[in-house]
Amino acid sequence: MPDTPNGLNRVLVVMAHPDDAEFGAAGTVARWAKEGRQVTYLILTDGNRGSSDPAMTAERLAQIRHAEQRAAAMKLGVKDVFFLGYDDGSLQPTLDLRRQITRWIRRTKPDVVMAPDPTRRWTGQRYINHPDHRAAGDATLDAIIPGSDTRLVFPELLDEGLEPHQVREIYLTGSNEPDAWVDISDTIDLKIEALREHKSQVGEWSELEQTIRERAADMAKGQDFPVAEGFKYFRLHE
Ligand SMILES: [Zn+2]
Repeated sequence: MPDTPNGLNRVLVVMAHPDDAEFGAAGTVARWAKEGRQVTYLILTDGNRGSSDPAMTAERLAQIRHAEQRAAAMKLGVKDVFFLGYDDGSLQPTLDLRRQITRWIRRTKPDVVMAPDPTRRWTGQRYINHPDHRAAGDATLDAIIPGSDTRLVFPELLDEGLEPHQVREIYLTGSNEPDAWVDISDTIDLKIEALREHKSQVGEWSELEQTIRERAADMAKGQDFPVAEGFKYFRLHE
């Protein structure tokens, strides 16, 4: 893990869908929460398209997924969960989205922001990344620079009393080029428990659990701990 200075206590996790934070970073989130950091989730869409059940409606699915996300976050020790209510499957890195994320960065004043790596188009020969994930990553990075720290960007936020804020560290999830690894030995079981809360999304559970454990072991190769989550990492300010 990067040598994170003490005192970086506030963390904002910005993700496209309910369950993205758990898949990408629940072990790290749980570890930070145990260390006393205040972790807040900002979930951009309602995840209201993630079902092929003909009896399911988008409205009902949104309610289910909100509840699942809150339950998973509670397992990990996350302090607050906020939803922006964008439609699942059509997220775009618009100025409106950037302004909304900037507003939440200025409101919650995080030292650390976590978001998806927007440069991940695919991985290997079996995985094409969801466009919502890329949009969430793009909008969040743009909200950090030049959004949250630049006074005259989004002057309407100044009118709301939201002053500029400097984010110090960024952790990008799902990166093809991870360069920082967090030891999740003590929290991988919590990650599994949190993922289990996403009941509407997880079908064959035992297979998925095995995949998650194998991936965490793969990610730790070359580290001096057995299981890890990997991130593309930035330290913007000391
Ligand atoms: Zn997702």
